[in-house]
Amino acid sequence: MLNKEIKSILEKSKQWGWVLEPDAKRILSLCGFQTPKYAVAKKPENAIAAARKIGYPVVVKIVSPEIVHKSDVKGVIVGIKDDERLVTVLEKFRKLPGFAGMLIDEMATGVELIIGAKNDVQFGPMILLGFGGVGVEIYKDVSLRMAPLNKNHVESMMKGLKAYPLLTGYRGSKPVNIAAVKSTLIRFSKLMMDIRDYFESVDLNPVMCDGKSCTVVDARIMLKD
Ligand code: ADP
Ligand code: MG
Repeated sequence: MLNKEIKSILEKSKQWGWVLEPDAKRILSLCGFQTPKYAVAKKPENAIAAARKIGYPVVVKIVSPEIVHKSDVKGVIVGIKDDERLVTVLEKFRKLPGFAGMLIDEMATGVELIIGAKNDVQFGPMILLGFGGVGVEIYKDVSLRMAPLNKNHVESMMKGLKAYPLLTGYRGSKPVNIAAVKSTLIRFSKLMMDIRDYFESVDLNPVMCDGKSCTVVDARIMLKD
Protein backbone atom coordinates (compact mmCIF):
# COMPACT_ATOMS: atom_id res chain seq x y z
CA MET A 1 0.00 0.00 0.00
CA LEU A 2 1.20 3.42 -0.94
CA ASN A 3 1.85 5.87 1.91
CA LYS A 4 -0.89 8.51 2.11
CA GLU A 5 1.43 11.50 1.82
CA ILE A 6 3.23 10.01 -1.19
CA LYS A 7 -0.09 9.39 -2.88
CA SER A 8 -1.26 12.95 -2.28
CA ILE A 9 2.01 14.39 -3.66
CA LEU A 10 1.64 12.26 -6.80
CA GLU A 11 -2.00 13.25 -7.25
CA LYS A 12 -1.20 16.95 -6.78
CA SER A 13 1.68 16.73 -9.29
CA LYS A 14 -0.52 15.40 -12.11
CA GLN A 15 -1.43 18.99 -13.02
CA TRP A 16 2.19 19.53 -14.15
CA GLY A 17 2.91 16.03 -15.45
CA TRP A 18 5.91 15.65 -13.17
CA VAL A 19 6.95 15.93 -9.55
CA LEU A 20 8.87 19.06 -8.54
CA GLU A 21 12.26 18.36 -6.98
CA PRO A 22 11.38 19.29 -3.37
CA ASP A 23 8.31 17.02 -3.53
CA ALA A 24 10.36 14.23 -5.10
CA LYS A 25 12.92 14.58 -2.31
CA ARG A 26 10.12 14.40 0.24
CA ILE A 27 8.87 11.15 -1.31
CA LEU A 28 12.38 9.71 -1.24
CA SER A 29 13.03 10.62 2.37
CA LEU A 30 9.68 9.13 3.39
CA CYS A 31 10.94 5.91 1.81
CA GLY A 32 14.23 5.95 3.70
CA PHE A 33 16.56 7.29 0.99
CA GLN A 34 19.25 9.69 2.10
CA THR A 35 18.91 13.19 0.64
CA PRO A 36 20.87 16.36 1.38
CA LYS A 37 19.28 18.59 4.02
CA TYR A 38 17.08 20.98 2.08
CA ALA A 39 14.57 23.81 2.33
CA VAL A 40 12.52 25.91 -0.08
CA ALA A 41 12.33 29.70 0.16
CA LYS A 42 10.78 32.49 -1.86
CA LYS A 43 11.89 35.53 0.10
CA PRO A 44 15.43 36.69 0.92
CA GLU A 45 14.97 36.57 4.71
CA ASN A 46 13.65 33.01 4.59
CA ALA A 47 16.39 31.91 2.20
CA ILE A 48 19.08 33.35 4.48
CA ALA A 49 17.62 31.68 7.56
CA ALA A 50 17.39 28.33 5.76
CA ALA A 51 20.92 28.49 4.29
CA ARG A 52 22.40 29.37 7.69
CA LYS A 53 20.56 26.50 9.31
CA ILE A 54 21.75 24.02 6.65
CA GLY A 55 25.24 25.56 6.79
CA TYR A 56 27.22 27.25 3.99
CA PRO A 57 28.35 26.33 1.38
CA VAL A 58 24.98 25.38 -0.13
CA VAL A 59 23.63 24.52 -3.58
CA VAL A 60 20.60 26.45 -4.83
CA LYS A 61 18.18 25.41 -7.56
CA ILE A 62 15.19 26.87 -9.32
CA VAL A 63 11.82 25.34 -8.44
CA SER A 64 9.35 25.85 -11.28
CA PRO A 65 6.70 23.59 -12.84
CA GLU A 66 7.89 24.96 -16.18
CA ILE A 67 11.56 24.00 -15.74
CA VAL A 68 12.36 20.30 -15.85
CA HIS A 69 16.04 20.61 -16.76
CA LYS A 70 17.33 23.17 -14.31
CA SER A 71 20.95 23.47 -15.48
CA ASP A 72 19.77 24.37 -18.99
CA VAL A 73 18.46 27.70 -17.71
CA LYS A 74 21.36 28.25 -15.25
CA GLY A 75 18.97 27.20 -12.53
CA VAL A 76 21.56 25.36 -10.43
CA ILE A 77 24.38 27.13 -8.60
CA VAL A 78 26.76 25.10 -6.43
CA GLY A 79 29.07 26.41 -3.72
CA ILE A 80 27.12 29.44 -2.50
CA LYS A 81 29.21 30.68 0.39
CA ASP A 82 27.39 33.68 1.88
CA ASP A 83 24.10 35.57 2.31
CA GLU A 84 24.95 38.17 -0.29
CA ARG A 85 25.52 35.70 -3.12
CA LEU A 86 22.45 33.75 -2.03
CA VAL A 87 20.20 36.78 -2.33
CA THR A 88 21.71 37.79 -5.69
CA VAL A 89 20.92 34.36 -7.11
CA LEU A 90 17.42 34.43 -5.64
CA GLU A 91 16.75 37.70 -7.47
CA LYS A 92 17.83 36.05 -10.74
CA PHE A 93 15.70 32.97 -10.11
CA ARG A 94 12.63 35.11 -9.47
CA LYS A 95 12.79 36.22 -13.11
CA LEU A 96 12.70 32.66 -14.48
CA PRO A 97 9.39 31.37 -15.90
CA GLY A 98 7.01 29.85 -13.36
CA PHE A 99 9.21 30.69 -10.35
CA ALA A 100 7.77 28.79 -7.39
CA GLY A 101 10.72 29.01 -5.03
CA MET A 102 14.42 28.39 -4.54
CA LEU A 103 15.54 24.99 -3.31
CA ILE A 104 18.48 25.24 -0.92
CA ASP A 105 20.49 22.01 -0.66
CA GLU A 106 23.30 20.90 1.58
CA MET A 107 26.42 20.21 -0.58
CA ALA A 108 27.06 16.53 -1.20
CA THR A 109 30.24 14.89 -2.55
CA GLY A 110 31.22 11.50 -3.90
CA VAL A 111 31.20 9.32 -7.01
CA GLU A 112 28.20 10.27 -9.17
CA LEU A 113 25.84 7.46 -10.10
CA ILE A 114 22.64 7.49 -12.10
CA ILE A 115 19.77 5.32 -10.99
CA GLY A 116 16.76 5.41 -13.28
CA ALA A 117 13.56 3.63 -14.21
CA LYS A 118 11.37 3.41 -17.28
CA ASN A 119 7.89 2.06 -16.91
CA ASP A 120 7.58 -0.32 -19.83
CA VAL A 121 4.04 -1.01 -21.05
CA GLN A 122 4.79 -4.70 -21.34
CA PHE A 123 7.39 -5.42 -18.66
CA GLY A 124 6.68 -2.79 -16.01
CA PRO A 125 9.51 -0.87 -14.29
CA MET A 126 12.96 -1.41 -15.86
CA ILE A 127 15.80 -0.26 -13.61
CA LEU A 128 18.97 1.37 -14.93
CA LEU A 129 22.30 1.85 -13.17
CA GLY A 130 25.19 3.86 -14.56
CA PHE A 131 27.81 6.44 -13.78
CA GLY A 132 26.97 10.13 -13.87
CA GLY A 133 28.68 12.90 -15.78
CA VAL A 134 29.87 12.73 -19.39
CA GLY A 135 30.95 9.09 -19.04
CA VAL A 136 27.42 7.78 -19.46
CA GLU A 137 26.82 9.57 -22.71
CA ILE A 138 30.14 8.60 -24.24
CA TYR A 139 30.55 4.98 -23.15
CA LYS A 140 26.93 3.88 -22.78
CA ASP A 141 28.15 1.97 -19.74
CA VAL A 142 24.86 1.04 -18.07
CA SER A 143 23.17 -1.99 -16.54
CA LEU A 144 19.47 -2.65 -17.06
CA ARG A 145 17.13 -5.05 -15.29
CA MET A 146 13.48 -5.64 -14.76
CA ALA A 147 12.09 -4.80 -11.29
CA PRO A 148 11.68 -6.08 -8.63
CA LEU A 149 15.39 -6.40 -7.86
CA ASN A 150 16.89 -8.70 -5.23
CA LYS A 151 20.42 -8.76 -3.77
CA ASN A 152 21.78 -10.98 -6.54
CA HIS A 153 20.33 -8.75 -9.25
CA VAL A 154 21.88 -5.57 -7.86
CA GLU A 155 25.21 -7.31 -7.36
CA SER A 156 25.35 -8.39 -11.00
CA MET A 157 24.14 -4.98 -12.17
CA MET A 158 27.06 -3.29 -10.41
CA LYS A 159 29.62 -5.83 -11.57
CA GLY A 160 28.29 -5.57 -15.10
CA LEU A 161 29.50 -1.97 -15.35
CA LYS A 162 32.84 -1.59 -17.12
CA ALA A 163 33.67 1.23 -14.74
CA TYR A 164 32.91 -0.93 -11.69
CA PRO A 165 36.46 -0.33 -10.33
CA LEU A 166 35.41 3.29 -9.74
CA LEU A 167 33.22 1.90 -6.95
CA THR A 168 35.76 -0.38 -5.36
CA GLY A 169 38.63 2.13 -5.43
CA TYR A 170 40.75 2.77 -8.49
CA ARG A 171 44.30 4.18 -8.50
CA GLY A 172 44.12 5.71 -5.09
CA SER A 173 40.49 6.82 -5.23
CA LYS A 174 38.59 5.74 -2.14
CA PRO A 175 36.10 2.89 -2.38
CA VAL A 176 32.43 3.73 -1.96
CA ASN A 177 30.17 1.91 0.45
CA ILE A 178 29.01 -0.96 -1.78
CA ALA A 179 26.35 -2.05 0.72
CA ALA A 180 24.86 1.45 0.53
CA VAL A 181 24.71 1.28 -3.28
CA LYS A 182 22.97 -2.09 -3.08
CA SER A 183 20.40 -1.02 -0.52
CA THR A 184 19.70 2.18 -2.46
CA LEU A 185 19.01 0.12 -5.61
CA ILE A 186 16.73 -2.31 -3.80
CA ARG A 187 14.85 0.54 -2.12
CA PHE A 188 14.50 2.22 -5.51
CA SER A 189 13.16 -0.93 -7.15
CA LYS A 190 10.59 -1.29 -4.37
CA LEU A 191 9.45 2.33 -4.74
CA MET A 192 9.14 1.93 -8.52
CA MET A 193 6.91 -1.12 -8.04
CA ASP A 194 4.81 0.81 -5.51
CA ILE A 195 4.27 3.80 -7.83
CA ARG A 196 4.07 1.89 -11.10
CA ASP A 197 0.53 3.12 -11.75
CA TYR A 198 1.74 6.72 -11.65
CA PHE A 199 5.11 7.10 -13.31
CA GLU A 200 6.46 7.03 -16.83
CA SER A 201 10.14 7.50 -15.97
CA VAL A 202 12.26 8.38 -12.96
CA ASP A 203 15.83 9.69 -12.84
CA LEU A 204 17.91 9.95 -9.72
CA ASN A 205 20.74 11.86 -11.36
CA PRO A 206 23.08 12.14 -9.65
CA VAL A 207 23.22 9.91 -6.61
CA MET A 208 26.49 10.75 -4.83
CA CYS A 209 28.21 7.86 -3.10
CA ASP A 210 31.21 7.95 -0.77
CA GLY A 211 32.76 5.60 1.78
CA LYS A 212 29.82 6.07 4.10
CA SER A 213 26.58 6.41 2.16
CA CYS A 214 24.65 7.28 -1.00
CA THR A 215 22.82 10.61 -1.18
CA VAL A 216 20.17 11.39 -3.80
CA VAL A 217 21.05 14.86 -5.02
CA ASP A 218 18.50 15.25 -7.83
CA ALA A 219 15.26 13.39 -8.51
CA ARG A 220 12.93 13.73 -11.48
CA ILE A 221 9.67 11.78 -11.54
CA MET A 222 7.76 12.05 -14.84
CA LEU A 223 4.12 11.01 -14.56
CA LYS A 224 1.82 9.16 -16.93
CA ASP A 225 -0.81 11.36 -18.50
P1 ADP B 1 19.44 19.24 -13.42
O1 ADP B 1 19.71 17.80 -13.66
O2 ADP B 1 17.97 19.54 -13.40
O3 ADP B 1 20.15 20.15 -14.36
P2 ADP B 1 20.72 18.86 -10.79
O4 ADP B 1 19.90 19.01 -9.55
O5 ADP B 1 21.09 17.48 -11.18
O6 ADP B 1 19.96 19.64 -11.96
O7 ADP B 1 22.03 19.72 -10.61
C1 ADP B 1 23.04 19.79 -11.61
C2 ADP B 1 24.37 19.34 -11.05
O8 ADP B 1 24.71 20.12 -9.92
C3 ADP B 1 24.35 17.90 -10.53
O9 ADP B 1 24.60 16.99 -11.57
C4 ADP B 1 25.44 17.92 -9.49
O10 ADP B 1 26.72 17.74 -10.10
C5 ADP B 1 25.35 19.32 -8.93
N1 ADP B 1 24.54 19.33 -7.69
C6 ADP B 1 23.20 19.50 -7.60
N2 ADP B 1 22.80 19.42 -6.31
C7 ADP B 1 23.90 19.19 -5.56
C8 ADP B 1 24.15 18.99 -4.17
N3 ADP B 1 23.18 19.04 -3.24
N4 ADP B 1 25.43 18.78 -3.77
C9 ADP B 1 26.44 18.74 -4.68
N5 ADP B 1 26.27 18.91 -6.01
C10 ADP B 1 25.03 19.13 -6.46
MG1 MG C 1 20.17 16.15 -12.48
